[in-house]
Amino acid sequence: MRTRRAVAVCITALSPMVVRAQTPAPVPARSAAVPTPSQHLGFTVGADRTLADWGQITGYFQRLATVSRAVHIDTLGPTTNGQPFIVAAVSTPANIARLSEFRAAQAKLADPRRLTPDEERRLVAAQPSVIFISNNIHGSEIGGSQMAMELAYRLVTNDTLQRYLAKEIVLIAPSMNPDGQRMITEWYRKNLGTKWEGGPIPWLYHPYVGHDNNRDWFMVTQKETRLVTDYLYGAWFPEIFYDVHQMGAEGARIFVPPLVDPVNPNLDPMIVRGIAHVGAEMAFALEERGKSGVANSVIYDLWWHGGARSTPTRHNMVGVITEAASVRIATPIVQDTSQLRGHARGLPKYERRINFPNPWPGGEWHLRDIIEYELIAAESLVRLASEQREDYVRSFVAMGRRAIEAGSKPPYAFVIPAGQADAGAVERLVDVLRVGRVEVGQAKTSFSAGGTTYGAGSYVVRMNQPYRAHAKDLLEVQRFPRMEQYPGGPPERPYDVAGWTLPLQMGVTAVQIDQPLSVETTPVTDATPRTRCTPRAGSTLTDAAVARDTRQYACLTRQPRVGLYKSWTASMDEGWTRWVMDDFKFPYISFGDSVARAGGLRKKFDVIVIPDLSLREVRDGMTDAQVPPQYAGGIGAEGLAALKQFAEDGGHLVLIDGASELAPAALGVDVKLVRAGGGGGNRNAAADAEQIYAPGSILRVVVDGTHPVGRGMSDSSAIYFVNSTSLELPAGSQARVIARYPDRPESILLSGFLQGPAKLAGKAAAADIALGKGRVTMFGFRPLYRGQSYGTFKMFFNALLEPVSPPAVQ
Ligand SMILES: [Zn+2]
Repeated sequence: MRTRRAVAVCITALSPMVVRAQTPAPVPARSAAVPTPSQHLGFTVGADRTLADWGQITGYFQRLATVSRAVHIDTLGPTTNGQPFIVAAVSTPANIARLSEFRAAQAKLADPRRLTPDEERRLVAAQPSVIFISNNIHGSEIGGSQMAMELAYRLVTNDTLQRYLAKEIVLIAPSMNPDGQRMITEWYRKNLGTKWEGGPIPWLYHPYVGHDNNRDWFMVTQKETRLVTDYLYGAWFPEIFYDVHQMGAEGARIFVPPLVDPVNPNLDPMIVRGIAHVGAEMAFALEERGKSGVANSVIYDLWWHGGARSTPTRHNMVGVITEAASVRIATPIVQDTSQLRGHARGLPKYERRINFPNPWPGGEWHLRDIIEYELIAAESLVRLASEQREDYVRSFVAMGRRAIEAGSKPPYAFVIPAGQADAGAVERLVDVLRVGRVEVGQAKTSFSAGGTTYGAGSYVVRMNQPYRAHAKDLLEVQRFPRMEQYPGGPPERPYDVAGWTLPLQMGVTAVQIDQPLSVETTPVTDATPRTRCTPRAGSTLTDAAVARDTRQYACLTRQPRVGLYKSWTASMDEGWTRWVMDDFKFPYISFGDSVARAGGLRKKFDVIVIPDLSLREVRDGMTDAQVPPQYAGGIGAEGLAALKQFAEDGGHLVLIDGASELAPAALGVDVKLVRAGGGGGNRNAAADAEQIYAPGSILRVVVDGTHPVGRGMSDSSAIYFVNSTSLELPAGSQARVIARYPDRPESILLSGFLQGPAKLAGKAAAADIALGKGRVTMFGFRPLYRGQSYGTFKMFFNALLEPVSPPAVQ
């Protein structure tokens, strides 16, 4: 009310004559007809044990757009499960009427080469700022999907907010994952009032990739990622991207920026400062409103690429994240102080209060609290982006210009030479760059650079372009800085993946060019792979030249019967395996615990794949205290026995990473597993500095190309390692090594961060062994890592295609 009165005073201070003379007929943004979300839904948004589902949320937004001229809805397309993916543009009615004009201007601001000096002056003076608010990318972090309705309502109806919006356009995605929103809502409602209320859902809250949908933002494999990517970098070019998340329940009530070191060197300094600027504004607004438990400068860092908020930062957009403490979906929790942990680095709770001056004292915590914290954060951003509109528009242009200018010194370009063996992987890499709006050219003639001659048709990625940071970060090697916790102490560990270099992951050669480059190129405009399948005459993978081209694997007609184990523990690696196999049109059947327990598996399958799951997850699953009994219990001892019998009967068991545990524990294979990790997820654990630790890095292996699984691979290849498993085979073992780590520890790490390489040196990374009439293949790493590691996809497919003994007549 205070602010409304202030506005009224401001207007009456002006002569009504002057107002009429200078502005067109006023268009009310709100009318009596604008319903609150609670009025529309018939229940209070954020009330305990109450959720609006995706149909209700989209229904409310459509109604808002019908009754208010301050709202415009874009339907970006269908989701994986066919639901509408919507984004609401909210501003003043006058701005909404000019959306297409503003959008065209944003495209020019994003690429200063298209701006004349006059246009630039005019746009810096008058173009509204554009912010994108992304909610609920993680299905169970449901608060944002509810908050989005209230935010839209308030933006439309509140005078102060409307005044901000005269200089700003707010794009709201109520859910970045509508399929997951719906799954969680249905699961929650179904279990209301039972002992499983608010408990975990036993499947992924996205049709394929679950929580990893926030790791897909440069590879862009999933439909939703693609829709938003096209909207951000092909349509709207916002200056600020705000990603609304939730975290665990035991720490701060909300995390806001700034983030922690290290800062990725490809980020423009204005991005880093802009993120801190927004975070400070949010923290200030939260404290002003009496909200305690606001933490900053903990956990989340500015290093990794691939998140919804991190890919915009490589496109000159300020990418911001907040993380509110969770409840049990919509069920409130009560915590006393003893249950709370601070987020100060490794120190006991509340001892260090520099970044956490006003800890939450404990008590009840409700869905409504999450919504209120998030609303304050979002509205403070709306205010900032309006009041500092000109700064954000001007710096957006300046960053694009700086990126272009940076290309006038090394590196000048990356060249992807023509004629590579895996043409399918090259094509896919170029596609990834193009989807991220990186400019790629194809050489019209052969040319030389740095003393090497490259053929016509080679791809050239010049570094003098607005999205240089994105291109460079994907193509170069990551060297995570070594930061000791104290002099001589163990290193700080990365928060998330530390290395992602796509040419290494994809088995593609890309050469950094450090001399000025002169070659005429044709722009690559086609952003979709031109060929998914190029069968060669008599295509069989026994020909190594054929096996080198990843596309060939999509062409094979004679397929084994593959069973893919799907646990009730929501395995993301299972989802990614399914996605890659679907993408390559490789048939398989998903099977669950009851099929495994029933046995007789050799009659059904030739090959069984167990994705990255621990022995305990496979055997025991979740308990019936966590999930209803039909989802509890895993495959049990009888399921493990059935898997062993399957191999003994001539089947082929393929175990991925953690599932290698099944080999010694359940199949009687004589192998010792060396596990990485230690210290849990605590990046600051004063762990043994010799312990293997690499939460996402690219490592070198030596591959036996004469082994059927190694067909088509180079002797020295790159694998993806996520605190993965390595194998020690006893002397005289019948097992055959497919890939192993080099003997010299210093030659193992290719990109990212690796602690304890000496413990990996010489160990096997993948091996197989006969078991009865069949076989067990152990991949200690992730051959299909997040749909990115094309370089090792072929090892996985080779394993599936290995001949098996025919099933015995039974
Ligand atoms: Zn999240």
